[in-house]
Amino acid sequence: MAYTIDLAGKTAVITGSNSGIGLGVAWALARAGADIVLNSFTDTPDDHAIAQKISDETGVKARYIQADMSKADQCRKLIEDAGVCDILVNNAGIQHVAPIPEFSTEKWDAIIAINMSSAFHTTAVALPMMRKAGWGRVINIASAHGLTASPFKSAYVTAKHGVVGLTKVTALETAKEDITCNAICPGYVLTPIVEKQIPDTMKEYDMTREEVMENVLLTRQPSKEFATVEQIGETTTFLCASAAAQITGTTISVDGGWTAL
Ligand code: NAD
Repeated sequence: MAYTIDLAGKTAVITGSNSGIGLGVAWALARAGADIVLNSFTDTPDDHAIAQKISDETGVKARYIQADMSKADQCRKLIEDAGVCDILVNNAGIQHVAPIPEFSTEKWDAIIAINMSSAFHTTAVALPMMRKAGWGRVINIASAHGLTASPFKSAYVTAKHGVVGLTKVTALETAKEDITCNAICPGYVLTPIVEKQIPDTMKEYDMTREEVMENVLLTRQPSKEFATVEQIGETTTFLCASAAAQITGTTISVDGGWTAL
């Protein structure tokens, strides 16, 4: 018999989920039967249409709630508005690349807020809900940059290392309950956040798109392949399964061998 994970009756809130990894995670959790709350800072007909499509194709309840993850009160309100949060996936993230002396304060603050502090605020509101339900899963989408560093990504590397630290603390504070907290650390996944870095890198190194992919992006990924949003989605789903009930406070790398180097 095929191994299946049944999340029917659970509600998952995924921050930053109108594109890329967050959307891939939403689809995977919906296919496993979880009701879905999508989020981003925009509020367009397309955002709501994505929720409708997930609902139509999987049969779960799916809705979209606008909230800006750079603002503490909106992070907290997202979880309050969701009303239920059995599975919390902290995924919203942005990137900016510059040497430290040229890295603007504004970009630093935005990356720390969206990529790191938002996970603290959503978790703070979600944990009491999980305790009330007697079950919960917190999955933080960190990065290979939560375990290693690259030049010019000071804020991103700092935020992602911080998320790994928050993951451990959350796991310890919930260790005796049926609540786990883990971080997934993807290597490069070809999503908009990575696509946006390609043109500048082509210019900087005078390379073609293919050369940037092979010689810059995938240079640290020994598999020489991008991880996919589907793989991150399935890894998230696995962390919600009963098989993963004793996996907590850890990082799971989905990086083609990057962190083994
Ligand atoms: P993406 O740009 O497709 O997705 C980022 C998501 O965050 C989008 O839905 C965007 O709308 C949302 N977002 C941005 N600012 C927000 C805000 N202020 N409030 C609410 N939502 C906001 O990129 P992605 O690759 O899917 O990134 C998702 C996560 O995965 C990020 O945390 C990123 O750091 C992490 N990650 C990505 C890669 C990769 O190679 N793509 C690798 C490791 C980790």
